[in-house]
Amino acid sequence: MRSCSLCIILSLAVAVYCVPVSQVTEQDEHDAESYLKRFFNLTEEKGPTGRRGVSAVSSKLSEMQRFFGLQIAGTLDDDTMTMMKKPRCGVPDTNIASFSTFGKNLKWEKNSLTYRIVNYTPDMSAPEVDDSVEKALQVWAKVTPLRFTRIDNGTADIMISFVPQEHGDSYPFDGPGVFLAHAFPPGPGTGGDVHFDEDESFTFSSNTGYILFLVAAHEFGHSLGLSHSYDPGALMYPWYSYNNPDTFVLPRDDVNGIQSLYGPNPDTDGDIDKPEPPTTPDACDSTLVLDAVATLRGEMLFFKDSFFWRSYPQSNTPQQTLITNFWPEAPTHIDAAYESQQSDRVLLFKGRRVWAFSGYDLVRGYPKSISSFGLPKRVKKINAALYDVESAKTLFFVGSSYYSYDEAKKTMDQGFPKRVDQTFSGLTGEVTAAFQYRSYTYIYSGPYMFEYSLSTGRLFRLLNNNYFLRCSNF
Ligand SMILES: [Zn+2]
Ligand SMILES: [Zn+2]
Repeated sequence: MRSCSLCIILSLAVAVYCVPVSQVTEQDEHDAESYLKRFFNLTEEKGPTGRRGVSAVSSKLSEMQRFFGLQIAGTLDDDTMTMMKKPRCGVPDTNIASFSTFGKNLKWEKNSLTYRIVNYTPDMSAPEVDDSVEKALQVWAKVTPLRFTRIDNGTADIMISFVPQEHGDSYPFDGPGVFLAHAFPPGPGTGGDVHFDEDESFTFSSNTGYILFLVAAHEFGHSLGLSHSYDPGALMYPWYSYNNPDTFVLPRDDVNGIQSLYGPNPDTDGDIDKPEPPTTPDACDSTLVLDAVATLRGEMLFFKDSFFWRSYPQSNTPQQTLITNFWPEAPTHIDAAYESQQSDRVLLFKGRRVWAFSGYDLVRGYPKSISSFGLPKRVKKINAALYDVESAKTLFFVGSSYYSYDEAKKTMDQGFPKRVDQTFSGLTGEVTAAFQYRSYTYIYSGPYMFEYSLSTGRLFRLLNNNYFLRCSNF
């Protein structure tokens, strides 16, 4: 169905974790119903009272909340409303899966495709538009037998245009924000075509405005037959997120998706020099070794590579997101993290540097050197950091020893470093992450997680790194 192929991309997907408590208005309820109708297939059926059954809305709300990893309340809460107000793509969210296609028959039956740039946006120079489009097509050509040839007149398979508002296909754009572009799946006529909303501000590579290369690469995925993926690392994830166009490599999930339709690139198959597609860390991987773990205002944060999982106290499924969607200035592949409840900040460590965030904002003066804590200059990196609620001290793990930092006095304690295994019995390997939750102290070492009481030093359990991530693929 044409309407299912319509795609709209989104503005920066920045999750909000501290929205003020607000009243749900009648307008909010109305907006929520429209949203559920559009994306979650809420039907118009009315009950005997002439009103739609409350349970229908509630069950669709639960479905949406499960989908987004929110607390499954079945009622309209702040987190759910925030999610609904985020700009997004128009394809319904009924398929909770990794990559998906529009169907096996919705693919091009040839490997040589033509494209034509029908008009240009004044936001960028013509060569910048040409280059962005060419690079975006090459993202897909690199991993498939598909080859693209540009034509300057006549009808191409993929017609590319910049159009505002109503533009003749019954999917009008909406002015700045929300709907950025849409594309049609393979087929004759408008099939494969991509429309960009001319009211958006597109850019070549800066992080103000939408990077045309990234939006185009996502839309071309639709042009070639891919639908959305709910792998938060995938290019076909419905939300736009910033990625450096110069270092962009198509993620594994998208490679698997497009190759399921067209197969691999015969020219580079078996080529060992090509960059390995990035994969999204998997909560079900029992050999997972997390980079760092911290708390944040009652939530748990589990860091791995460019991602972290957020776990709300009552949520069934921790939500995985890109670190830079939350903190655009944060490093990825971090060494350690902790929440200083003293200063209501989250601190992230990488190499000799530390970043402090208050809410979404990088605290002024950061990043700083880790020697600003008073750590010896010879310390090149911290393996893990543990904030102990009871003593308000932070333990910094370095190699096989640890230091103690007094959060109130802002000085390092005397008598350190101590050996880790003096305090934590049985812990002979290097500490890789650490945090406290519900008065237990969790020390991670390689794929294992040790559960201790810090006050008595007693070891309770030996678990895996993914224990709190609640793998849902049984
Ligand atoms: Zn899309
Ligand atoms: Zn259109």
